[in-house]
Amino acid sequence: MDLLADAQSLRPELIELRQALHREPEVGLHLPGTQERLLEALRGLPLEITTGTETTSVTGVLRGGATATAPGAERTTVLLRGDMDALPVDERSGEDFAATNGAMHACGHDLHSTALVGAARLLCAHRDRLAGDVVFMFQPGEEGWDGAAAMIREGVLVGCLSNWYETQRLLRDPDLATKLGAAGLIPNCTESAPSASKS
Ligand SMILES: [Zn+2]
Repeated sequence: MDLLADAQSLRPELIELRQALHREPEVGLHLPGTQERLLEALRGLPLEITTGTETTSVTGVLRGGATATAPGAERTTVLLRGDMDALPVDERSGEDFAATNGAMHACGHDLHSTALVGAARLLCAHRDRLAGDVVFMFQPGEEGWDGAAAMIREGVLVGCLSNWYETQRLLRDPDLATKLGAAGLIPNCTESAPSASKS
């Protein structure tokens, strides 16, 4: 497995995608053109794709094909996130792929989304070696629009339940499970650990 060589082979198409996203930036929670381009870029990959209803989000789930074999190892889920929205500012970069619609990817979300597509392509190509699942979260509305909360309400974290204790440890909030469960953001998390079931 040579991930670096594989990544380098993706370079031309990823540059093209990034420039296309940059040329037509969209602001806020509803980014239909951006969503369409990302869906097109993910087409043909072995992902379970869903799109948002509150927003134009895109979620892809990759089911790894390997079995966890190390002592004590258990199957887990990792979530990778990239934001999709631009800022309402005029672009004066002078680049030939500069935006002209009064918005601009001035915060780099065109790169973030493109990098996430690249990660999806790489990991899909090596899915047989993954002893777990990967959730690819393409999020609108990062620039103050609370797009992540909309995606959580629509269940983007549900597939991550097998990694629940690790998530809590990272966030250093022992009451987080109870709070999110009470808010209906995730199921089955009030008393004991959920099993590693998948939705
Ligand atoms: Zn940003």
